[in-house]
Formats: sequence, structure tokens, C-alpha cells
Amino acid sequence: MNSKYLGIIGGGQLGMFTCIAAKKRGLKTLVFSDSSEFSAKRFCDEYITGDFNDLEKVDLFAKKADFFTIETENIPLKTLKLIENEKKIYPTSNIVRICQNRLQEKKFINSIKGIKTTDYYELNNFKEFEEKAESLNFRCILKSKESGYDGKGQHRINRENLKEFKNIYFNDYILEKFVYFEKEISVIIVRGNNQIINYPPVENVHKKSILRESFYPAEISKEIASHSVELAKIIAKEINLNGVLAVEMFVLKDSEVIINELAPRPHNSGHWSMDACNESQYDNLIKVICDENLEMPIISNKCKMINLIGDEYNKISELKEKYKCYDYFKKEVRNLRKMGHYIILE
Ligand code: ADP
Ligand code: MG
Repeated sequence: MNSKYLGIIGGGQLGMFTCIAAKKRGLKTLVFSDSSEFSAKRFCDEYITGDFNDLEKVDLFAKKADFFTIETENIPLKTLKLIENEKKIYPTSNIVRICQNRLQEKKFINSIKGIKTTDYYELNNFKEFEEKAESLNFRCILKSKESGYDGKGQHRINRENLKEFKNIYFNDYILEKFVYFEKEISVIIVRGNNQIINYPPVENVHKKSILRESFYPAEISKEIASHSVELAKIIAKEINLNGVLAVEMFVLKDSEVIINELAPRPHNSGHWSMDACNESQYDNLIKVICDENLEMPIISNKCKMINLIGDEYNKISELKEKYKCYDYFKKEVRNLRKMGHYIILE
């Protein structure tokens, strides 16, 4: 029997884990990577390297696989549309269009009755920026609308650094009110084949805007947990999700839950599902793609996932003696780069 090919745009660790899950279900994988050394290289059946804007290569990629998915939302829309004209892509280009731009994403979320993001402001010029930052008492973060991840493209603004932003193109940014939240949590939804399932909320700890660890169960009340799942499900339905959606949230002091951002793909805060659930977020993405029935994940353990960032990676062989470790096989260790993770099960 000829195996079907799954095309994956992006070859980082999320693409790598998607390849592994696809293989388990008998699919072959074709990765489109924008760098020549990438995590998924040794796990895929074939790959194409090139710029995501190179439509000739994208066309070749589109012809070579049967269906498609992504591991990053930072993909040009024309690339996704070209693929979508020929084959099915999980998630659709429209979902990625909303999630790849913070302004579009926030407008979309706030348009849903009863669901809110942090307060944010569109900016046209430095004067507006200065006035707004002042009126927020410098309780604000300047965020690029596109291409941000792991805190990249974000600046906590204060009186001293304000002037550094005099010459930026303000239409590329939004100003967001800084939130003194109690907790950060995330909920992962999987939707397809007329079914919707979720992983329970996990609690996330960030340092320098980069995820350090996620743990299950989140230390929140049952009410907040079920409310957060409800919110994530509503968003998934409103966006017409086909695939996986991670919803990052802030829990405020008064127990209000507001939405931070969305990722329409497997998420770092869902890595734990590979070790503490019968089916991981990657397995369930593949099930959606293969039109199989979805079932609520069965959870076997309490679990903590800890990222190895930058030179923390040097501890990996020591950690391997005690914990299950995942190496992302990155070519070089870089400051603030996610290099691997390890799992503590209870
Ligand atoms: P990224 O795309 O880099 O993940 P996020 O908007 O999720 O961007 O920001 C990364 C982290 O920075 C968040 O998880 C949170 O810890 C912190 N952060 C972002 N926005 C705010 C905010 N408005 N108030 C307080 N902390 C924030
Ligand atoms: Mg985030």
C-alpha cells in the first residue's frame, strides 16, 4: 500500500514531534523548512528547504503531499493559499490569517460575546505612543503585530527607553496594557470530524517572556478550570478550527480569565501530553487529518514539563539519568533558544 504523505510547513521541534506522530499512524512526512539544519530533519521521510515565499518551491511541495499542516503561524498567506487551492490544510489559511497578526487576533477574540483580551491600543506615530504610554503610567508592552514568538518583538516600556522607539513604523505594533495576573494557563483544543476535545488547563511559568515550565494540573479552582475550557471551546468553534488550537490565558486576581493569545497548532505547553496522556496533541492532530474519531485524552500522571533554554542544554546528559529528556537536535546553542525539554512525572 502506498502511504499518504503529510506535508508540514516548518521543521522545528513542533514539526519534529508531528513527524513522529504521523509515522506512528503510517503516514509519510515531507517537511518544508526555511533553514538547512532543522530538528525534524532526521525524523521526516523527505524535505524541501527554501524560503516560505518561494512559490515555485511551495508549488512543488503542494504537489508532493496529500494533506498539509503547519508548526508555526508565521507563514505568508499566499503560500498557504497556494496549497489550499490544491489540497486540504489543517488549519485553514483563514485561521492562520487571524492568528498570525496580534491586532487581527485580538479584534477577533473581543468580537466574541463574553470573551476578552488584555486592553490594547493601535498606534500611528510616536506622539500617540508617548501619550498612551504616559496615560497608562508606563504599565505597557509594545508588541510587534507579526512574527513574534518567545517574547521576540516585545518591549516593556518605561520613561527611560521610550525615546528608543522614535523611528519605528508604528503601524507594525500595538501597545498592550501590562497585566498583573495571578497565573498563566493554557488550554489545548482539538477539533475535527464534527468532534471537539480538549486537554485540561496547564499552568505556565514564563521568565523573560519565554516559557520555562508547564505543569498539570494547574493550581486553579475547578470553576476556573472549567470556565477556561469553555472559553477555549467557544473560540475554537468561532474560528472554525480544523486541527489543534492552543489558547493562552491570564487568570486575574478576581478570578476573571482573559485571553493572551492563540496558536493554531501544537504548543510547547502541550508537550506534556506525550508522556502523561494516552494520546498526545500531536497524535490528535494526525487523527483530525486522517478523519478519525477523537476521544478525550486519558491522563495517567501529574506532570511537569521543563524547557531547556540556551546553555541549560549542557545539563541534558546528566538529566537523562533521572528524567525523560527530549533533544531538539539544534545545530547550535543560542541564548534564549529552546533546545530541548524534560519531563517530571508524579
Ligand atoms: P509570544 O508570542 O512571544 O508568546 P506573548 O504575548 O504570549 O508572546 O508574551 C509572552 C509572555 O510575556 C506571556 O506569556 C506573558 O508571560 C508575558 N506577557 C505578554 N503580554 C503581557 C501583558 N500584557 N501583561 C503581562 N505579561 C505579559
Ligand atoms: Mg505566548
